[in-house]
Amino acid sequence: MKKIASVIVDVPTLQTNKPFDYYIPEEFIGHIEIGMRVVVPFGNRHIQGFVVGLKERSDIKNLKEIIEPMDVIPVLNKELLHIGDYLSEKTLCFKIAAYQVMLPPALKAKYEKYITLIDDHALEQLPTDLKKLFDKQKRLKWKDVEKFVSTSYLYRKAKEGLFEVTYEVKNQGNKKKVLYYVPTTNDVEHFQNKKNQLSKPLSQKQEEIYQVFLRHFQPHTVSQMERKVANARAPLNALVNKGLLKKEEYEQYRDPYVNRYFQKTKALPLTEDQQKAITPILNTIEEKQQEVFLLHGVTGSGKTEVYLQAIEKVINQGKEAIVLVPEISLTPQMVNRFKGRFGNLVAVLHSGLSLGEKYDEWRKIQRKEVKVVVGARSAIFAPFENIGIIIIDEEHENSYKQEDIPRYHARDIAIERSKIHHCPVVLGSATPSLESFARAKKGVYKLLTMDKRMNQSRLPTVEIVDMRNELKSGNRSMFSAQLFEKMQDRLAKKEQIVLMLNRRGYSSFVMCRDCGLVVKCPNCEISLTYHKVTDQLKCHYCGFETGTPKVCPECGSNHIRFFGTGTQKVEEELGKVLPEARVIRMDVDTTSRKGSHEKLLTDFGQGKADILLGTQMIAKGLDFPNITLVGVLSADSSLHIPDFRSSEKTFQLLTQVSGRAGRHQLPGEVIIQTYTPEHYSVQLAKNHDYLQFYRHEMLMRKQGQYPPFYYLVLIHINHEDVQYVYTVAEKIAQFLRAQLLPSSKVLGPAASPIVKIKNKYRYQVLIKYKHDPNITPALKKIIHHFYQDQLKKGLTISIDMNPYSLM
Ligand code: ADP
Ligand code: ZN
Ligand code: ZN
Repeated sequence: MKKIASVIVDVPTLQTNKPFDYYIPEEFIGHIEIGMRVVVPFGNRHIQGFVVGLKERSDIKNLKEIIEPMDVIPVLNKELLHIGDYLSEKTLCFKIAAYQVMLPPALKAKYEKYITLIDDHALEQLPTDLKKLFDKQKRLKWKDVEKFVSTSYLYRKAKEGLFEVTYEVKNQGNKKKVLYYVPTTNDVEHFQNKKNQLSKPLSQKQEEIYQVFLRHFQPHTVSQMERKVANARAPLNALVNKGLLKKEEYEQYRDPYVNRYFQKTKALPLTEDQQKAITPILNTIEEKQQEVFLLHGVTGSGKTEVYLQAIEKVINQGKEAIVLVPEISLTPQMVNRFKGRFGNLVAVLHSGLSLGEKYDEWRKIQRKEVKVVVGARSAIFAPFENIGIIIIDEEHENSYKQEDIPRYHARDIAIERSKIHHCPVVLGSATPSLESFARAKKGVYKLLTMDKRMNQSRLPTVEIVDMRNELKSGNRSMFSAQLFEKMQDRLAKKEQIVLMLNRRGYSSFVMCRDCGLVVKCPNCEISLTYHKVTDQLKCHYCGFETGTPKVCPECGSNHIRFFGTGTQKVEEELGKVLPEARVIRMDVDTTSRKGSHEKLLTDFGQGKADILLGTQMIAKGLDFPNITLVGVLSADSSLHIPDFRSSEKTFQLLTQVSGRAGRHQLPGEVIIQTYTPEHYSVQLAKNHDYLQFYRHEMLMRKQGQYPPFYYLVLIHINHEDVQYVYTVAEKIAQFLRAQLLPSSKVLGPAASPIVKIKNKYRYQVLIKYKHDPNITPALKKIIHHFYQDQLKKGLTISIDMNPYSLM
């Protein structure tokens, strides 16, 4: 019997980034398995950990005992534990962080830290504030005490023995149970005999219910029964007393889609293009081969049907499928396409679900009750054990990269999992990332192309309007003459319009028109965003809020006002110039309530509005036949952010939003308004020319030594003391220059584009490299070497391998 468990404990530090051995208490031997969470003693507290191994002997003397297991079945299978180790190695995060990220948030038990006063003598030594607190209660939450004294004081007093500090695991994922009435036998004949043996006949109501059970020999809740027989509760209980039925509690999944009706769909006969694209995918499924496909299909070319039919093949083989979709295109429309085909075999994971709902969906996967999961980034960790295909739609989307620890990209995880399961990965996009397209060109990925739209519908014609000329000709409105004319035309024809405001890297800030002052956050050095509803200025990094100044704090002028165009402002303007138009506005403000995103889209789909106005969240996934005009109000704002991907992002956005027009019978038109009409991103988006864009952008990347020619590593060094940050950053840069190959380039240290966040100064060091075996060891040494400093002085060093945000 294996009596010892190796445990990765939940203490994210370098010293604890390895398994610790514990005895398994007698009563849990044979029960505690690899992949389960356990509570263990660590130092003088109780914390959570993951069992990563079982063994008979340990080299360590005086092992402590596991307190108790937290799970009945392992939450991580062996494959996912391997993925965790892979994540930890590739993103340089601690193992515990890698394991945690793979679990649904409800399972990430939160700790509550408690302080217990040792005795009354200790009470006498406390300052008055605390004395009052502890007078009533000996045990208090750390965070309640921390309000009154400094953290270091608490630590000091705890060391002196006044307090004991304990950690408690709080579990949030509770399962909802529902009461069912079930026949006491699972044999129909026996069920009839039992009734015949009763001394008295059943009442009329009881008889009706009994007949329902005869016809539908399955568990019923009271409300299910009451749909067939009114007031069923009392007679159901009577049948229990007579021994015909029994009560049982089953887990009820809080499936938000369960009570909705899905139009059942069948596989469509594929077009020639689709057939060509799907054949190699089906072959790899058949032959259980690992392969990465890049499906480059223009908007409306029918990529989703290809996904669906590949999944069908996988399900027929008894295997499972993971489909990743960017959070913002995970619309009910999208989900319905999968649920319509595969019904209840589909689980959905997206951020709109409550913690409990996410947990329920995850458990359906764990219990093998579903075969397909459709979800955003983290669905890549779905605990399937027999994966037959992994699909990543809109593979170019940045949201597949996690910005927090562990800083992983879902594409890398998909490929690693496909190697274990010997299955294909399909990356789909109308505008693939440069990285992926370059890999396909080199033959690392297999390129599949679909360059025609369905139903012979043509890609929309795109017209570029130079807004500088509009200004010269005296048009100061946000709509160019061309766009305005076409909007009037569509309103007359009762066709629909989509207006997009490109707000990436752009905000409505407050500026003084006399001296040019822009009001900035005192903590973060970025301009504050104006919120009209509350007439407040807000920092989007740290949450700082202040009222709008009436006069300029710099020059005293009263020409200080909000600048830039928000969706609200466009809506107001539309109300003035096209008062007859019905407008639906979609942005973070109107879609923050649960289900509102969905409702707005449904309304628009049902023709309850003429114009859908929104931020880039409307650029994707919409497929409504009546949209014949798309207007982009400001193509430029995303071109000017300091990021080497800004051209790529602009091209992708313009192409995506153009793809919303004329997807069905009616032809579509697109108007792009811009102050930089000559930019190649804008020009090539006009021609829907991805290949030309790819060639041009590759030249730029080669010149600038950016991906996909070089790999990047971004190191952020943050601290309150600017001098100290700079010193550490400089030391890190020098260290790297000494360690890395001469072909690798170490840039910086430089102040980050956002110099200060939450009162901490930010410096960065950027590494560009092609092949350098010294990279990982050097970075690990940095974490190691600077570790003690971090603890002492509140310094943070974060490392992002292949960063997607350089801010
Ligand atoms: P994409 O995902 O490439 O943008 P979609 O999958 O949304 O394209 O397909 C565009 C439209 O064409 C959808 O309305 C879809 O139902 C339809 N469609 C896809 N494949 C076929 C087919 N083989 N026959 C008929 N219609 C199809
Ligand atoms: Zn001023
Ligand atoms: Zn701020």
